[in-house]
Amino acid sequence: MTTHPAPSTTVGGVVAAMQARYPSAWAEEWDRVGLVVGDPGAPVRRVLLAVDCVPETVAEAVERGADMMVVHHPLLLRGVHSVATTTYKGAAVHHLITSGVALFVAHTNADVATPGVTDALAARLGLLDVAPLFPGDRNPVRVGRLPEPRPLEKLAAYVADRLPATRTGVRVAGDPSRAVQRLALVGGAGDSFLADVAASGVDAFLTADLRHHPASEHLAGGGPALVDASHWATERPWLDALAVELRTDLSVETIASDIVTDVWTAHAPSAIPEERP
Ligand SMILES: [Zn+2]
Repeated sequence: MTTHPAPSTTVGGVVAAMQARYPSAWAEEWDRVGLVVGDPGAPVRRVLLAVDCVPETVAEAVERGADMMVVHHPLLLRGVHSVATTTYKGAAVHHLITSGVALFVAHTNADVATPGVTDALAARLGLLDVAPLFPGDRNPVRVGRLPEPRPLEKLAAYVADRLPATRTGVRVAGDPSRAVQRLALVGGAGDSFLADVAASGVDAFLTADLRHHPASEHLAGGGPALVDASHWATERPWLDALAVELRTDLSVETIASDIVTDVWTAHAPSAIPEERP
């Protein structure tokens, strides 16, 4: 019989490694990060990394023999008075505990770290000269440049091709023929940064979850073109970077989940009879 040279650490070891790279103190005040489920002394051989802790990713962690999940979005953000299995989140908490799987969250603290969530997105897109939009200030917005300029419409196809596949793909706003080389970007919902990005003079801004009124007003004011990808697709690249970091810091196996946790499950482009001249 062969014995496996078992990589091993503990829940506390993973927590310490995460805290060293993504200190909880860097999280926004409203955010809820850190260890959610688990015993710091429990052994960890394998960690599943996911954008969201939802029933599907918890099931994946259990099926694949993970002892711990490290996820981006908080499972419990607002006040909770029950984790009974009759509640959606309570069922997830029970499934984690009864399966011996710990849960750790790194959210806005991972967004503002360097490298952080948006750096992984920029790397996935092959951007050059990536730097924070506001040097010296801890924030999630990065700027970088494409190796050569592309029309906005071609950029949409490029981004859709480079990012993990989702049902919704990539939308753009602005003149489709506009040349884009300098890009600002932020993983996840980024419309609170529209004004800062407009002031920076980039050609386009890539983020997720853009809304009608803020986007319309931004473009009407002459702001950079907008590239709206799916929330999950903009944050999924970080899981690969995080996997490398955890394997560098610890004796641990990592699995980056490819379960798409976006809410959108299908997309049908409208039939446009005649494009406007
Ligand atoms: Zn997010």
